[in-house]
Amino acid sequence: MNYQEIVNAQNAFFNTNTTKDISFRIKELKRLKNVLQQHEDLFYKAIYNDFKKSKYETYTTELGIIYHEIDLALVNIKKWSKKKSVSTGLANLPGRSYIIPEPFGTVLVMGAWNYPYQLSIVPAIAAIAAGCTVILKPSEIPSHSSAVMTKIINQNFSPEFFKVIEGGVAETTELLKIKFDKIFFTGSIQVGKIIYQAAAKHLTPVTLELGGKSPAIITKDVNIDMTAKRLVWAKFLNTGQTCIAPDYILVESAIQDELLSAIKKHIENADYKIENQNYTQIVNQKNFERLQGFIEKDKIYFGGQCDAESRVISPTVMSGVTFSDKVMQEEIFGPILPVLSFENIDSAIADIKTLSKPLSCYIFTKNKGIKNKILNEISFGGGAVNDAVMHFMEQNLPFGGVGDSGIGNYHGKAGFEAFSHYKSILQKSFLIELNLKYAPYTGSKLKWLKRLIG
Ligand code: NAD
Repeated sequence: MNYQEIVNAQNAFFNTNTTKDISFRIKELKRLKNVLQQHEDLFYKAIYNDFKKSKYETYTTELGIIYHEIDLALVNIKKWSKKKSVSTGLANLPGRSYIIPEPFGTVLVMGAWNYPYQLSIVPAIAAIAAGCTVILKPSEIPSHSSAVMTKIINQNFSPEFFKVIEGGVAETTELLKIKFDKIFFTGSIQVGKIIYQAAAKHLTPVTLELGGKSPAIITKDVNIDMTAKRLVWAKFLNTGQTCIAPDYILVESAIQDELLSAIKKHIENADYKIENQNYTQIVNQKNFERLQGFIEKDKIYFGGQCDAESRVISPTVMSGVTFSDKVMQEEIFGPILPVLSFENIDSAIADIKTLSKPLSCYIFTKNKGIKNKILNEISFGGGAVNDAVMHFMEQNLPFGGVGDSGIGNYHGKAGFEAFSHYKSILQKSFLIELNLKYAPYTGSKLKWLKRLIG
């Protein structure tokens, strides 16, 4: 079957209304969880082959998140799908108003490589919960992970409901020529623009989960040790190949030295180093070389070891960095942490605002005024106060970017909403009919109308 035929088959299946039945969606979500659990070992092996990612990190940052998202949908799906009644204005009485969530239809979900399972499967879960049929195109870069997802999902789901299509630029370009009812994309800003343009040709709505440079701003009153510990975990998880990793640190100069030394201590404590078999590789040679190019020898505070053969870069902290340095010109997406300092919070905010709106922003402070100032003055997707990355785990916080970092949100209920159209209905009765709106339009009718409408 070519791509158009697969989409036609999904459209036809959607039009049977099978996916509108909540019990069908529940059954399919349970099936998804079962088949993933049954084949967990294959998933661990594939991702290890792609970038030496440990079983522990694969569970906590991939499979565990997927299971949690399925469970959350199973518990809430009936509530989320319910028709919602709202009040009705005087002009339409007797009558009632309500909103019905309806699935968009056949959707295309495209994933990024850095968390190959969850970035592909979590949006697919939301689409299934909302009642859509799904075509999933994982990233081709982690080829073992992409192959295992394709095999397991395609063996266990009927293609007219849920189908994985593997491929890179050429295959995606072909897919994008087809009209979908919704496109959900996770990836770079550059490719996000290609997706948006292709979707516009068909007036297809999009969710774009993109990237950017997410800052961590630290004032001098913090608990330095705990701040360093949290930042080291957030930055070097998946060796920095995380869209919401703190990209760079802006620290108040009074505590810069103390913070740097606490960061060094926590990197050493975590045993993140080249020889560690659980220290994730850089995904490919191209990214390895791109990252190497950011490291300026005279600015290395700690780390800086690169091993081309194993594609590993040790956690690298750079100090004395400025906004004009190479490492500050694009999203890093790897284990390099530039540390910049500031004296004045207004100029720090102004510097951050010279870059495009980040996906996340982290504020470490005990100063309520500064916290509120940053929250009020910097536009960003989402973030945390006195922590980093952990907001991603909060099921009631919609996750997404703003401006260059993305369009729309997902996770939990927000994911269901991303794949639903909210159909607004006014329902009238035949009991009575006021003559006010009908011609002939007289002065006394206008007087009454003004009283009614206000
Ligand atoms: P990418 O944009 O290169 O690739 C993402 C997807 O687009 C892949 O499926 C790929 O096959 C496809 N693609 C690549 N080039 C294409 C083209 N020319 N035309 C059509 N499709 C194309 O992104 P990536 O390298 O996989 O991921 C890294 C980026 O993703 C980073 O910027 C990161 O911040 C961002 N990201 C964002 C989130 C989020 O949730 N917001 C999560 C992870 C990664």
